[in-house]
Amino acid sequence: MENNILDCVIVGSGPAGFTAAIYAARADLKPELYTGMEPGGQLTTTTDVENFPGYPDGITGPEMMMQLQKQAERFETKVYYEMITKVEFATEKGGIHKLYAGSREILARTVIISTGATAKYLGLDDEKKYMGGGVSACATCDGFFYKGKEVIVVGAGDTAAEEATYLSKIASKVTMLVRRDEFRASKVMVKRVMDTENIEVKFNHELIGIKGENSLVERAVVINNKTQEESELPVHGIFIAIGHKPNTEVFAGQIDLEENGYIITEGKSTRTNLPGVFAAGDVQDHTYRQAVTAAGTGCMAAMDAERYLQEIGE
Ligand code: NDP
Repeated sequence: MENNILDCVIVGSGPAGFTAAIYAARADLKPELYTGMEPGGQLTTTTDVENFPGYPDGITGPEMMMQLQKQAERFETKVYYEMITKVEFATEKGGIHKLYAGSREILARTVIISTGATAKYLGLDDEKKYMGGGVSACATCDGFFYKGKEVIVVGAGDTAAEEATYLSKIASKVTMLVRRDEFRASKVMVKRVMDTENIEVKFNHELIGIKGENSLVERAVVINNKTQEESELPVHGIFIAIGHKPNTEVFAGQIDLEENGYIITEGKSTRTNLPGVFAAGDVQDHTYRQAVTAAGTGCMAAMDAERYLQEIGE
């Protein structure tokens, strides 16, 4: 094997990337992992993770990511705190893929893309201020903390409808803020929302501010965009559910993407349309989006990469 061609490069450092690294390293692929701009990924912006199997007392997101990294490094994964800024993927089987971290060129036989997705936010300064203190983009992750309390869900798509329905079983009341006078969500999801007693839908309403002491949400400032009337709602949790954006800009034009930018994988595998390029985690999954499912596909990607290397005789 030529020295400067790596067997496996992993792009992205969430649960998918580090799990791929653990498996690839244990299969002796000597992986290099590039963390990107947000080492640890989305989990580093959450507080307690209570639904990852194996942590009966929960664990904080940042701590879990540190442990995953430590585990990957124990098996000699090399972690680079760098961003992959350009790729030139080979299109033929056995071809060598080129990746660039700035001007540095990296050559690899297999690439695992696990760059994740980023939740969209409204862009209010208050969102940042109250992040982790009541503002969240994941009801499954953080809903539990609002047991018996009032919460808001911003958005009108399937995610917002699903989050509102999920939260209605935990919170005392859920108010949905819909910016237009209609939902975008599918009929069946809308019906579910409308049939739930403790969900109130406020059409033509937008969130414009958040108030509270010690960076903990106490009130939401909302505006009726038809009448311009402002009001305050007493809430503890604000869930922003206006969609996610997969982090695929750098791969666009080279790899097959769905219309909404997610990487297309083949059947139940992590194979993309390019030989030797695999995708794991949220970058190829807009349905489940959980740390545990991301980790699962990270494992699959490493196994797919290992099999591919065997096929090409490396
Ligand atoms: P969508 O893009 O479908 O919906 C985003 C929603 O957020 C829209 O209602 C939009 O309003 C609203 N929105 C966007 N920006 C703002 C803003 N600045 N202020 C207020 N509201 C805003 O994203 P989803 O995450 O809901 O869904 C993504 C995809 O995943 C869809 O294809 C969906 O069907 C699918 N999905 C399927 C599920 C299922 O089947 N169980 C569950 C979850 C998602 P507007 O309508 O006015 O544009």
